[in-house]
Amino acid sequence: MASVEQQIEEFMGGLKRRNPDEPEFHQAVFEVAESVIPFLQDQPQYLEARILERMTEPDRAILFRVAWVDDSGEIRANKGYRVQFNNAIGPYKGGLRFHPTVTLSVLKFLGFEQTFKNSLTTLPMGGAKGGSDFNPHGRSDDEVLRFCQSFMTQLYRYIGSDVDVPAGDIGVGGREISYLFGQYKRITHHFNGVITGKGPSFGGSLIRTEATGYGCVYFMKNVLEHHGEGLEGKTCLVSGAGNVAQYTAEKLADEGAKVVTMSDSDGFVHDPEGIAGERLEWIKELKNKRRGRISEYADEFGCNYYEGEAPWRVPCDLAFPSATQNELSEDDARTLIDNGVRAVGEGANMPTEQGGVRAFREAGVLFAPSKAANAGGVAVSGLEQTQNAMRLTWTRDEVDRRLREIMGKIHGTCVEHGERSDKTPEGVVDYVAGANIGGFIKVADAMLAYGVV
Ligand code: NDP
Repeated sequence: MASVEQQIEEFMGGLKRRNPDEPEFHQAVFEVAESVIPFLQDQPQYLEARILERMTEPDRAILFRVAWVDDSGEIRANKGYRVQFNNAIGPYKGGLRFHPTVTLSVLKFLGFEQTFKNSLTTLPMGGAKGGSDFNPHGRSDDEVLRFCQSFMTQLYRYIGSDVDVPAGDIGVGGREISYLFGQYKRITHHFNGVITGKGPSFGGSLIRTEATGYGCVYFMKNVLEHHGEGLEGKTCLVSGAGNVAQYTAEKLADEGAKVVTMSDSDGFVHDPEGIAGERLEWIKELKNKRRGRISEYADEFGCNYYEGEAPWRVPCDLAFPSATQNELSEDDARTLIDNGVRAVGEGANMPTEQGGVRAFREAGVLFAPSKAANAGGVAVSGLEQTQNAMRLTWTRDEVDRRLREIMGKIHGTCVEHGERSDKTPEGVVDYVAGANIGGFIKVADAMLAYGVV
């Protein structure tokens, strides 16, 4: 029988042949295969049923044209996608991303990851992802409205509250979700939980906006406490200045930690006094209302701005990459390790390159991968679906309590399956293996139960 390493190589060779030119998808699958294939060695039931092979093939990928008219009357056409990856344990669930870097490969990586993440939340949700290469930056509200209406005019046929429930992601925030839901309602006559992240006055859940960032900090708190430490007094780097970054920063400050950086795709600001309170509110106003650049923060508060750079060379205890995929390279990871970083919480999806993940694990840095660390967003989306189905709304405290509880359970699952890994030093939980194996088992058992489908 081939060694585990050979099995991984063969598996990845086949996947790359079947899915050429999809580097992000290959990367996401490799990270899972590296943990799950060793685990499968004494699990013949999954091996014989070829569960991993089946799990890496999406149920379907839908591609469509999105035609719309810009403010100058020009006709535009963008690509639209929905990748319905796996609905073994519940209706498809996963965000929509509007960004020029969106490709089928990116959405397959995200949909694949989402399947594992949703499984970890303990809620009955399958995995999906969708979006468009449309760039909302610099577009007027009217243009975004027209684009969203055209996008939904295609998407509505493939979604439904028991079928597939999209949400937001990069470039899709409260404004876009409202436009999309408004168009869905107009076309179908149905007011139901078909999309999450809605405004609180029309079916949205309290805490959904904050959930990914808050959840990431709750998860980190669990990680540190499990290893005999805490958040109080820790110096933190956050990248990004969008939804996830804002609420990660907010909760870190609540917990007594100090956030000294935030960024956008142009550069980062370093504020040694800490980005909290009215300074953080200023960033929310800048990014969510005025849609300005992070460099303006440096002018406003008299701190340094570094054009074209990510924040990873600033010394810190904790790092929270919260912008986008592959924003933290192996070199960045080594710089962070040299500067004494204790833990990394991935707020964004797959923000750390493969070499960086390896470096963190080998160095014994507590590394919380996105599947686990940022699952709070989709978890509260799941709670929004529950509230919609029950036709009632829970209080802020109730949702926050459930979010904390879910992040605690995800942590428990990661510890259960990541405690005995040989990829991290003795005494350091391997959260990568824990999240991958924990997420895999639930979906795999459901697939086994269905037979050959
Ligand atoms: P937003 O659109 O609100 O913010 C994204 C932030 O990342 C912005 O500051 C943006 O800067 C920056 N950014 C985007 N692309 C790049 C790039 N190529 N290089 C550097 N910076 C970049 O998105 P979210 O905060 O919602 O999402 C951030 C990450 O978190 C994504 O990976 C997403 O998949 C993940 N995530 C989000 C969840 C959610 O609930 N929103 C749930 C789980 C994961 P700029 O303004 O210049 O573009």
